[in-house]
Order: sequence, then structure tokens, then C-alpha cells
Amino acid sequence: MELFTEMTRWGFEQVVFCHDASTGLRAVIAVHDTTLGPALGGCRMWMYPSEEAAVRDALRLARGMTYKAAVAGLNFGGGKAVILGDPRTDRTEERFRAFGRFVQALGGRYITAEDVGTTVREMDWVRLETPFVTGTSPDRGGAGDPSPMTALGVFQGMRAAVREAFGEESLVGMTVAVQGLGSVGRHLCELLHGAGAHLVVTDLREEAVEEAVRRFRARRVEAEAVFDIPCDVFAPCALGGVLDDRTIPRLKCRVVAGSANNQLAEDRHGFILRERGILYAPDYVVNAGGLIHVAAQYKGEPPERVRARVEGIYETVERVFALAKSAGIPTHRAADRIAEERLAEGRGRTAPHGPAVGL
Ligand code: NAD
Repeated sequence: MELFTEMTRWGFEQVVFCHDASTGLRAVIAVHDTTLGPALGGCRMWMYPSEEAAVRDALRLARGMTYKAAVAGLNFGGGKAVILGDPRTDRTEERFRAFGRFVQALGGRYITAEDVGTTVREMDWVRLETPFVTGTSPDRGGAGDPSPMTALGVFQGMRAAVREAFGEESLVGMTVAVQGLGSVGRHLCELLHGAGAHLVVTDLREEAVEEAVRRFRARRVEAEAVFDIPCDVFAPCALGGVLDDRTIPRLKCRVVAGSANNQLAEDRHGFILRERGILYAPDYVVNAGGLIHVAAQYKGEPPERVRARVEGIYETVERVFALAKSAGIPTHRAADRIAEERLAEGRGRTAPHGPAVGL
């Protein structure tokens, strides 16, 4: 990997390689862009197949955070950290405190939080070394699980998309297929059920499916069948990369709106969805509720303000659709353009309109 070439190509400010011999910590902190404010993004712990895979993941995720914060109207930049290690055995206090000292050394240019493989407990350890952390426990000034706010944002984005596609805002009688009933999917089902939608659900965990059937009178389908089910809305809330050459031709919905990150396997799949007449509510626009929650927590904003901001995802999605229509571009490109224009305004120059994916 030609690191400086990649950094130049994708506009990275700083990539920090962290090594602590006494604890065995190996981490990468990628600060993509601090035009709008300090770089905010979670810390992932993962068993990467190679060092290059870890660096690439940190870069890809950090850049995604810049776009997510920009479109959400937050005054934060984009960054991300990855720790190379096994979350089952390597999550020691010493290691996370060592990581916290590296975060501290950046002097507030990067603010960390939990992500895949890390939890509130590890962020509390980081907090012992630095104030530049959010997502800590209430004892340490945190505000707990961001998933309910992520689900609320997805719900709002979905409502805006339903209105755009069907001309009506109400979800009463709409059929929504939810893939993944984890922290976000479960909360989303609750909101959808409350709004009068019919639910079709799938998860690899039997107990999660049973709960949805019992609580929300949901209809269950096998994991693979979720792509074939006739429905009004498909809500991917499990994994990234689910919209690809294999799945898009099978979809029988008018709208895709869900929480999963990086739903489009490649940039071109956003174009294919449009050709098929499926309205895509871009993932990083509708799933920004969790980021809004942790950002507000960091700034000490009251919960009512956070909720109002998350509800504002409805208007943000409307803005994305309006631009897509007026510029004749797919919705995922419209979201990127809004982010790039906000960043360019911050830098005081014109935005290039390139694709946001690629790392
Ligand atoms: P989670 O791990 O709690 O839940 C994921 C669920 O998906 C699990 O129940 C898992 O069994 C299920 N699943 C995995 N593979 C599946 C498959 N092939 N078919 C059906 N179900 C499958 O995760 P989460 O926190 O609910 O997040 C869901 C998605 O939303 C992730 O992509 C995450 O990156 C994204 N996201 C989450 C948040 C948040 O606040 N938690 C914020 C932004 C984005």
C-alpha cells in the first residue's frame, strides 16, 4: 500500500500508528478531515487478516465519518481508530489505557467512542487517560446506548422515503422487511409496529425472531428469502454490502432504508437501484442518529435537543431526494454532494463531485 498516495487521493490529514510494547497494543488512528471540527469516530477492535487490511479499514471508516457528520449538520470531522486484536481475549484495561494515552497525545484532534468489538467498559478505561472520549457509562458522564436514536433516525428517514415514493407519509398498512433484529433492528421494529406497519423479519438468532413474532406480530422469513419477499420497504439492519448484483434484481420493494453501514457493495449499485425504480435512502444519512447522540453527549447537550436533531433526519433525507431529482443523480451521490459542499464551504472553496466510496 502506498500510504501517502492513498492519503493524498482521499484527502486524509493524519494517520497515526500506535505501538505500546508493555501492553502489546497495536492501533491505527486515522484522522480524515477536521474542517468542521475535531474528528469523531469509534474505536474498532478486530482480528484483521493483515496489517494492510487494518489500515484500509481505518481509512475507509474515517472518511465515512466525515461525510456522515457533514450531512447530519454536526460540527465534527471524521476519524476512526482500529485496534488489531481479538475482542474475546485482548480487551484489557492496560491496553485500552495505553490507547487512551495515544488519543490524549493528539490533543483533541480525534475523539474516540465505542464501535464493533468495544463497549462502554473499554471507553471508561480510555476515559482514565483522556477526556477526548464519548460513549462512556453514565458514571463517567456518558449517556448510554446510541441504538434507540439510530433506530429513530432510520424511522424518520424511512417516513420521508415512503412519502417520496408513495406520496403519503403514513406507514399504516405498509409492509416493511427488516433484516437483522439486533440493537437497532429491534428498536426500529417497535417504532414501525407502533406506526401501524406490517413487519416481515429475519435474523440468524432464533430468539430475536421469536421475540419479534411475539411482540410485533411479525412474519418470519429465512435469512436468504428476505431479498425475494414482496414488500413496500426493505430495511437492511444487519451487515454492509447487502445491495449487490445478486440481491438487487431480486428486490420487490419500492424503498430501501435501513441502519447498516455501507449497504451498497459498490458505487454503481446505487445507479442500478435507481434504474430499477427503487428509492434508496442513503445509509449514512438515515443511520446518523447514533452519531448525533454521541456528539451531543460529548458537548453536554440535553436529551430533548438530541431527539429533535435526530428527528430532523426526515428533512435531511428530503433534501437529499430533492437534490437527486434536480441534478439527475442517484440519491447516494446526492448525499455525497451535500457533504462535499458543506466541507467546501468550510474550506472556502468549491467541492469536487467525486464518488465517496472506493477505499
Ligand atoms: P447488532 O450486532 O446488535 O445486530 C445485528 C443483527 O443482525 C444481529 O442480531 C445478527 O444476528 C443479525 N444478522 C447478522 N447477519 C445476518 C443475516 N445474514 N441475516 C439476518 N440477520 C443477520 O448490530 P446493531 O448495533 O443493531 O447494528 C446493525 C447495523 O447498523 C450494523 O451494520 C451497524 O454497523 C449499523 N449501525 C449501528 C448503529 C448503532 O447505533 N448501533 C449506528 C449506525 C450504524
